[in-house]
Amino acid sequence: MKYVYLFGCNKTEGDASLKNLLGGKGANLAEMASMDIPVPPGFTISTDVCDIYNSNDKNYPEEVKSQVEMALAAVEEAVGAKFGDEQNPLVVSVRSGARVSMPGMMDTVLNLGLNDTTVCGLAKQTGDERFAYWSYQRLIEMYGDVVLGIDRPILEEVFSSRKKEKGVTLDIELTTEDLKEIIDGLKAKIREVASSEFPQDLKQQFWQAISAVFESWNTPRAVAYRNINKIPHDWGTAVNVQTMVFGNMGNDSGTGVIFSRNPATGEKGLFGEFLINAQGEDIVAGIRTPRDIEELAQVLPQCYQELNDFSRKLEEHFKDMQDTEFTIQKSKLWILQTRTGKRTAQAEIKIAVDMTREKLIEKTQALRRIDPAQIEQVLHTTIDPNADKELIAKGLAASPGTASGKIVFEPDEVVELAKENGDFILVRDETSADDIRGIDAARGILTTRGGVTSHAAVVARGMGRCAIVGCKDIIINFEKEELTADNRIFTKGDIITLDGSTGEVFAGKVPTITPQVSDELKELIAWEDSTKNLQVLANADSAADAKLARSFGAEGIGLCRTEHMFFEVSRVDHFRRAILAEGKEEKETALAELLPLQKADFTGILREMEGLPVIIRLLDPPLHEFLPPHYDKQQLRSLAKRLSMPFRRLEEKVLQLREFNPMLGHRGCRLGITSPELYEMQVRAIMEATYELIAQGIDAHPYIMLPLIAHVEELKLLKELVIDTCEKVRKEEQTTEVIPPLGIMIEVPRAALIAGELAKLVDFFSFGTNDLTQTTFGISRDDGRSFIPAYIEKGIFTSDPFASLDKTGVAELIKIAFERGREANPQLKVGVCGEHGGDPDSIEVFHQLGLDSISCSPYRVPVARLAASQAALEIQA
Ligand code: PEP
Ligand code: MG
Repeated sequence: MKYVYLFGCNKTEGDASLKNLLGGKGANLAEMASMDIPVPPGFTISTDVCDIYNSNDKNYPEEVKSQVEMALAAVEEAVGAKFGDEQNPLVVSVRSGARVSMPGMMDTVLNLGLNDTTVCGLAKQTGDERFAYWSYQRLIEMYGDVVLGIDRPILEEVFSSRKKEKGVTLDIELTTEDLKEIIDGLKAKIREVASSEFPQDLKQQFWQAISAVFESWNTPRAVAYRNINKIPHDWGTAVNVQTMVFGNMGNDSGTGVIFSRNPATGEKGLFGEFLINAQGEDIVAGIRTPRDIEELAQVLPQCYQELNDFSRKLEEHFKDMQDTEFTIQKSKLWILQTRTGKRTAQAEIKIAVDMTREKLIEKTQALRRIDPAQIEQVLHTTIDPNADKELIAKGLAASPGTASGKIVFEPDEVVELAKENGDFILVRDETSADDIRGIDAARGILTTRGGVTSHAAVVARGMGRCAIVGCKDIIINFEKEELTADNRIFTKGDIITLDGSTGEVFAGKVPTITPQVSDELKELIAWEDSTKNLQVLANADSAADAKLARSFGAEGIGLCRTEHMFFEVSRVDHFRRAILAEGKEEKETALAELLPLQKADFTGILREMEGLPVIIRLLDPPLHEFLPPHYDKQQLRSLAKRLSMPFRRLEEKVLQLREFNPMLGHRGCRLGITSPELYEMQVRAIMEATYELIAQGIDAHPYIMLPLIAHVEELKLLKELVIDTCEKVRKEEQTTEVIPPLGIMIEVPRAALIAGELAKLVDFFSFGTNDLTQTTFGISRDDGRSFIPAYIEKGIFTSDPFASLDKTGVAELIKIAFERGREANPQLKVGVCGEHGGDPDSIEVFHQLGLDSISCSPYRVPVARLAASQAALEIQA
């Protein structure tokens, strides 16, 4: 069995197609070596070994040991140095590298191969004793942390106390003698804390470092990152052993990170940062603030030119934007890693569309490449330019969008507070991999240090969190839990607003505005039309929502919930009057007052959606939702006064309407059965609005939908009501226009089972998957939150069935209803309008079932359209 793969030596054994086996980093190093891009020679130990090692009591198969020995010999030959050689020692790095990048989550050990003897060899070889000891002390510090598990601050304290003793502020001011003392101090600290010695035996050092990196696959932070990003735990990491190149060998050396296009905007051109006389971790850790890559053209022009060329070459080869790490050692450029660059959603769309225009990729590739979940981020809010705002600081714009919330300084505290709801901004000097849960729970991230490729920036962009980094205008006092900005003090809990697109920080909550759809997104939306089969509709209850949905590519309204219109302050009392009316006459009078208001609602929506279908659902929720609770005497009294109704009568009526289980009670079409006047008024409003619009030359297309149908007799009665009312209005208006199609929601298992009978009476079905999930599982939509997380944790559910469709139970009912319905009525149109209509995983199922449409909230329309295209492309592939 082959476990070890060489790259950049006398031969290269892997390539980019072996990502699963070699990890992203290892596979791409091999690919680059084959492309004649200068990578330091090394080898990759495969991800298979991670699994074997971690599940075999931390033992390696014998073949691994011998293959590693042989690979090390090949590296020695390629470099012309020997591991452990006293005169010319080989120094290597040991790094993790999983199938997908998990920034900063796993461990790395640099400068392996140094001990008290070889450090002298390195000093002689490089002619730089100070550099050699500097490298050695870094190794001991990393080794103590990664291999021996000593907290990094304990080890760093040895370094900083020496600086304090010497009265110096910069690391560079320490002499070789100081570094030697620090090395002794570190060794003593390791002895004291871990009761072990820093190993002088280099083979021991080497293997322990490799094992520690394999073990870091299972650290709590790595496990948490995988859980958040849904990365399988059995993938494992590979380990890359690679010749060290040093960016800290003087002013002709340096290190940096470049992107082939701007990861925030998608703009074409080199983007990135570098530091002179530094090692790679200095950039990633965000401790020193790096310089713009364009400045490298002045400092080391030859290297800048090569970097530009390699970046282009890599992008053309991998056909995607590349994030590339490099080191310059004494004016020689080395590429250490390249991978597909993480980017904002805006950049993702722009890059995919631009690369199609540049003929680098096909349209179908562009559509496949974009993550539907990321699309939502393009619809980020921006700060309202006309709003009053107080700018208190400015940092680097690291991840776009806006966020307002209370200041919190500790990541764990954000996690706790967020459980109780509310918006929080995590404010730190810098973030580390351990802060991942806090970043996830916060609305926005603000750091005082680091550049746009620092940990906080990379992680926030990946998660779509708004972030500002390197904000030097802010000083944090962690002890007092306060920050100073613009000569003002803000304490924990004070509200600030971040603009992640400009890097500006404002005091208080600043109003934001809804985003515009970019040209690239419009182009992408047009491409989707020719690939997807599902029609994507929107759930919208007002003309404004309908307009927004249309601008996002909605092909109609799949669900207009009419009850939302009644909740408006100006009309809720009219509606209450209708509910509380005694006798037909009183009720009709109250409803007559509502009729023009409803008509105006429908006119607005139908006008916005001219030429497209608008499915209007008749009233659905239990009536008592519109009334104050029976125990709230004060509210009841004030309502009684407003309605000029005796208090006792109101109280009695409210008590009558009270239900123990309203979700299974007097709601949905049951309201139409018991209060036909209500539905009649709604149908009349729809028809009057439609005929009025048609008379004005506007192409209005209403559809009428009945909620919560469970019995064919319910449907028969209500169908008669709808048709009679339509005919009545048609006669009054003296028109020959057709009456709207009629449909029902399938929301209870009984309706799904008798779908054949129901389908004969209607034109369309729409699955209300929120209620269908509720009634199939017998889990309340409103109360499941207390135990669903535990069900997910224990592996009973893979995800919340109210967010992502249950593929075995609820999907089976949909299939049954769809098949029986279509068999009875081959013209039947079938769609979905529950929350699942905007969830990519569920959309895949709806596509596979062969449904006609999905409907979701306006902001999810672009997500749903893309997911529908991808589902179609998946089947074609
Ligand atoms: C549903 O139940 O899925 C649905 C769309 O209706 P509502 O959410 O309004 O009950
Ligand atoms: Mg419903």
